[in-house]
Amino acid sequence: MKSREVQVFVRIRPTANFARHLIECLPDGQTVNIYHRKNSKKLQDSRKRQPSSWSFQLEGILQDVSQEEFYTRVCRRVVLGALDGYNGTVMCFGQTGAGKTYTMTGSTESYKQRGVIPRALQEVFQEVEKRTEHAFNVHLSYLEIYNETLVDLLSSLRGSSHQSPHSMVVMEEPGRGVLIRGLSLHPVHSEEEALNLLFEGEMNRIIGSHALNRNSSRSHCIFTVHVECRSRTLSDAKYVTSKLNLVDLAGSERLGKTGSEGQMMKEAVYINRSLSFLEQAILALADHRRDHVPFRQSKLTHALKDSLGGNCNTVLVANIYSEAAQIEETLSTLRFACRMKCVRTDPAVNERVDLAAQIKKLEKDVQMLKEELSLCNTLAKRPSITYESLSEAQLAEIHSQVQRYLAGSLENISIVNIRQVHAVFAQFKLAVQEQEQKVKAQLRQTYNLVKKDQSANTAAIKEWDIRSSTEDVEAGSTGVPKKNAPRPSSTKAKTKKLSEKQNQSKRRGEGSPVSRKHLESASKSKLHSVQTPEREHESQEPDTESQDTQEPPASEPFPPDSPLTKEQAFEVFKVGQGSKINLILKDNKAVLLERRSLLRQLSEEVNAAKREIDCTTATLQQHRELRGGQGQYLVMENEPAAGSRDHFIDAAERAEGRVPAEIRGAAGHQGREFESWYKKSFLVHEQELDITMEESPREEEDAEKGLPDEPSSESFYNARYRTLKRRNSRALVFTPVQRNSSGQRRLPPILPVT
Ligand code: ADP
Ligand code: MG
Repeated sequence: MKSREVQVFVRIRPTANFARHLIECLPDGQTVNIYHRKNSKKLQDSRKRQPSSWSFQLEGILQDVSQEEFYTRVCRRVVLGALDGYNGTVMCFGQTGAGKTYTMTGSTESYKQRGVIPRALQEVFQEVEKRTEHAFNVHLSYLEIYNETLVDLLSSLRGSSHQSPHSMVVMEEPGRGVLIRGLSLHPVHSEEEALNLLFEGEMNRIIGSHALNRNSSRSHCIFTVHVECRSRTLSDAKYVTSKLNLVDLAGSERLGKTGSEGQMMKEAVYINRSLSFLEQAILALADHRRDHVPFRQSKLTHALKDSLGGNCNTVLVANIYSEAAQIEETLSTLRFACRMKCVRTDPAVNERVDLAAQIKKLEKDVQMLKEELSLCNTLAKRPSITYESLSEAQLAEIHSQVQRYLAGSLENISIVNIRQVHAVFAQFKLAVQEQEQKVKAQLRQTYNLVKKDQSANTAAIKEWDIRSSTEDVEAGSTGVPKKNAPRPSSTKAKTKKLSEKQNQSKRRGEGSPVSRKHLESASKSKLHSVQTPEREHESQEPDTESQDTQEPPASEPFPPDSPLTKEQAFEVFKVGQGSKINLILKDNKAVLLERRSLLRQLSEEVNAAKREIDCTTATLQQHRELRGGQGQYLVMENEPAAGSRDHFIDAAERAEGRVPAEIRGAAGHQGREFESWYKKSFLVHEQELDITMEESPREEEDAEKGLPDEPSSESFYNARYRTLKRRNSRALVFTPVQRNSSGQRRLPPILPVT
């Protein structure tokens, strides 16, 4: 998928007092105009010339739309994308009371009024049932951010470890995006299980707000559906994962207008600060020239990092009032919405590789290939060959073969299998390395002496130089006045002199048979460092001696005063007396070079194999650690694992008073009547009974409305029924929420969901 803009929708809260003179929705369904002039006298003067109308064009302006239509138009695409491996985010933003929670969660009492989250869960499980060629794993988490503290709304559930809020941390993992360490992650296998968790989380929000005297909109809530999808048909180690974040942001509010004090004011300050950080992050994201986005300024922006600027399908819903009294807040919500429209994301499928599965697959492949080889060997009448690692004895045998081969006593090393070939090469490599060490040691010795020779030669050149310049001065042949005659001290001048001298020798017919070109190249050549043993011996003599003893052989027709260096003399030696040795040396050098290149090639192969092994070991280790839950979400081990749905339901039924599954599932209404009767008659404590009776008329009314027309509402009502039951039983042991010394809230003990 290509990079795309964040889709922004506006939802207008229905009202009997729609401010038509202030808000105009155009028939295109995408434009809303606001006409507003501030009343304040001060502002009237300063803004006289400023426009008092604004036009906002967004993806859709939704007025008087049902929950169902809203879901279909705004969220369905994102939810289906999550099942295909794309991360998705739906985020509600706006003033307190403008309808964010109604949009996101909706009513937990009426099936028709249910919001985006229950609808998304229904869609997810309907699709999971339809897509039979894939196996899905679905997990849920529910995070609340209250006054910059992370709270796990599902920590009350059976099996969750009760984390202190401070042990929860927003962190990032390369390739996996943002994670909340310490947040519980719950496997779910059906819509009903999922709704059960949603309602549980909602209830924890409500309990918290009762005790703290706050309404639920004073925190940010992120409900996340984690999806993992593997192909059932392909035995592939690849699979896709996605996160669907459904975000209900805390409402923005004006302190002056609400007159908040004390705790409420503290909360409002936190909310406004985190929303302003969110706005800063959005501004930075929308400005494509900026490469730093301040995500870490608040828990909210950090937790939403990959939902805002990552590879996500992102939808923002701006909830607004349409009454005149709220027009300023409406205007600022629309401005924020417009900025969000400029943010671009790059939706991409999250493909992963299951390393354990891949290793298993490779092991299987290796085994199959071994069997194939042994079949081939049997057919080729070579049944004794094995392909396991070589034993010590086999390695010793290979070593001895290579040594004999190098010494010339063995003509061929016959190839048995690839492992043996590798071992043979390893032995060759060893031999070459030993040889190389020897040669290097020899070269090091020789090189030092050559250096000394060179310094001796330089001294000779200097001496000769001085002599010749004196001669020049004496002869006055240059025509330059004697006094001012420049002393030829530069190397260039020296070389010139040297060549002149040599030319003279040539002219005199006393020149060496070695050509001038040869001599020059000899002086540059570095080949002097490879010497014959005799020469080596010679070079080990002290400097002066070596100078003295370096007389050309009598057969060489050098002029007696020839300034030939040792190297030049050696070049002469190579073409003359030492030519045979030189040839042998050259051959040896060629062989050495060839072996060196072979050695390099072999060591590259070995290194590549080693790197691959290291890499696989590291990733395997990492994978094991991840599976172990380090630095990850906590997967609840006590929770029913994938495939243990029966166990979950059995447990639920047991705790629910052993209501037979057939009766419970038979068609909600009758089933529930039976349950209520059964509970009243046999199971429920008298105190609890009172509460259940209080709740039941409304529930039955809903059931009557919902069930006959909507068979799909069964899960919703079942989950709600259980939640009510939990709430009632919790009410019996309810103790007010207290704060500890650091002002941290402490939720009352909560009964496990069963
Ligand atoms: P917020 O979460 O933005 O603070 P709520 O979602 O709690 O606001 O909404 C406040 C009240 O307005 C709730 O009683 C809710 O039922 C009602 N409400 C909001 N939007 C709608 C809507 N589109 N249709 C019907 N009722 C709505
Ligand atoms: Mg709310």
